[in-house]
Amino acid sequence: MYNLILFGPPGSGKGTQADFLVKQHGFLHISTGDMFREELSRRTPLGQEARKYMDRGDLVPDEVTIAMLRKRVEQHPDVAGIIFDGFPRTDPQAAELNDMMEEKQASINALVLLDVDVDTIVQRILGRAATSGRADDAKEDVIRTRYENFINYTAPVFDFYDQLGLAHRVNGAQSPSEVAAAIANIVGPAAQD
Ligand code: AMP
Repeated sequence: MYNLILFGPPGSGKGTQADFLVKQHGFLHISTGDMFREELSRRTPLGQEARKYMDRGDLVPDEVTIAMLRKRVEQHPDVAGIIFDGFPRTDPQAAELNDMMEEKQASINALVLLDVDVDTIVQRILGRAATSGRADDAKEDVIRTRYENFINYTAPVFDFYDQLGLAHRVNGAQSPSEVAAAIANIVGPAAQD
């Protein structure tokens, strides 16, 4: 099993790269943001709860996010690999993911940070707002809050994996195909195991 964390601020291209990796390797793609939006569109209690945080650009509480993620992982016991997109976003989420992997007798193989500066992020997200239909993409102050939450709560997760020798940094300001090539170099043949 090959498990990869796609890591980076909002608008860094995680979803685009996850799509490439799914096509190449057939991995399961788990995006906690997509899962929350799905709950929101179905107007479930979980969606209503998450919305309060998402509209402000804040993180949904760990216990809610972890329970949802765990359920999704458990629904797919036999996949060749998982791409985690937008999870873990806090240290407790990273610790929980570690436990989950151990329970499966698997591990995280790599974390790839897509590095993009804040001004590029704001321009990209405002640019995609018209087509994404996401309320949290349309307002610059919400985008900046999402970025600040990334710096304050999520960026430390990089160090957790860096200490394990698993963290990689890719210039996310390159074109999508250049970023994909850089990720392929990291994932490489290991993903075929
Ligand atoms: P994303 O599509 O990954 O940018 O996520 C959209 C929003 O969903 C975020 O701004 C958070 O409010 C929420 N969210 C997604 N993933 C997580 C997570 N792992 N922990 C907490 N909140 C999350």
